[in-house]
Amino acid sequence: MSTETKGGTTKKRANAKVSSPTTTQTLLSYGVKPYEPKKGEEYMSKEQLEHFRKLLNIWKKALLEGGDETIHDLKSLAEVPADVSDQATLEETFALRLRARDREHKLINKIDESIKLIDNGEYGYCEECGIEIGIRRLEARPTATLCIDCKTLAEVREKQGRQ
Ligand SMILES: [Zn+2]
Repeated sequence: MSTETKGGTTKKRANAKVSSPTTTQTLLSYGVKPYEPKKGEEYMSKEQLEHFRKLLNIWKKALLEGGDETIHDLKSLAEVPADVSDQATLEETFALRLRARDREHKLINKIDESIKLIDNGEYGYCEECGIEIGIRRLEARPTATLCIDCKTLAEVREKQGRQ
């Protein structure tokens, strides 16, 4: 007698981690330094807006280049004469890649929206309550449109809605 559960729910979906430069650290690796506001500098000064515009553009470029790679990968994958035992893995990889591309597309759209906000001078403020989102939070997530409190609240609501 064995108590181990086979198949079923024990095998969680494969770790779908796709490297996506959302952290300050990754942005640093693109050569963008964390912004140090001057004494008395107002929030979302011209310099700050330019800083984030630069950041968003670098990020977008990286995503677009990464996207090309994904297409290449898909092509080369399709050419592999997979033997039957590899079929599942291959399909899984396919699905993962496609999902990653979908996420990338959405992210690029969000980046474009953020750049528009910079153009309109609305960037950096919570769209829900209007307070400053904050430079550090924006550097970690340049597409953020909510302050941390509203974001947390939205996530809670989302979870409740799903149940
Ligand atoms: Zn807010």
